[in-house]
Amino acid sequence: KKSSLSEVKVAVVGAPGVGKSALTVRFLTRRYIGEYDHQAETRYKHEVLVDGEPVLFEILDTCPKGEDELPSNETLNWADGCLLVYAITDRRSFNYIRRAKQILSDMPLVLVGNKGDMVHLRQVSTEEGEILAKDYECWFQEVAAAEQVQQVGEVFHELCREVLNARRK
Ligand code: GDP
Ligand code: MG
Repeated sequence: KKSSLSEVKVAVVGAPGVGKSALTVRFLTRRYIGEYDHQAETRYKHEVLVDGEPVLFEILDTCPKGEDELPSNETLNWADGCLLVYAITDRRSFNYIRRAKQILSDMPLVLVGNKGDMVHLRQVSTEEGEILAKDYECWFQEVAAAEQVQQVGEVFHELCREVLNARRK
């Protein structure tokens, strides 16, 4: 029996500069470019196998204009799940996650601490990320879009699994 294509809509949410675009482009192309459009919100469609099953990802790489701009209702209503991204080098981006979480409806989440390569500039400990994820009952991973392909893919795949599991219930 041929399995049908599942569609999974993912919003990539986080403060400006945390690496949302870097993570998204890394996942889509396996490459790291280093500089991305800082103005525009971008939408992508990407078909991949997750655990051997074809999935059509729709990814919205959000683009808040400042620390105070949280994801819009339109975005939150559209999304099946959110990738919540902060940078381990930026305490304020960790606080942004807490504020964003308050306006999220009950939906699958994955918490990502990006810029894991910049340990010398770390402002948020791994343990703090783990504690927040426990509070949100979500999966957590520190990654480096700049250096990793596999682990970046894994965070998108994990969110996809959570969305599909929630849908099956
Ligand atoms: P966005 O505003 O959240 O979309 O952030 P960008 O993807 O545009 O990244 C902001 C800056 O951080 C860019 O200069 C990226 O090259 C840099 N950056 C993104 N991810 C990483 C990472 O994993 N490690 C390091 N060292 N820099 C990163
Ligand atoms: Mg961006």
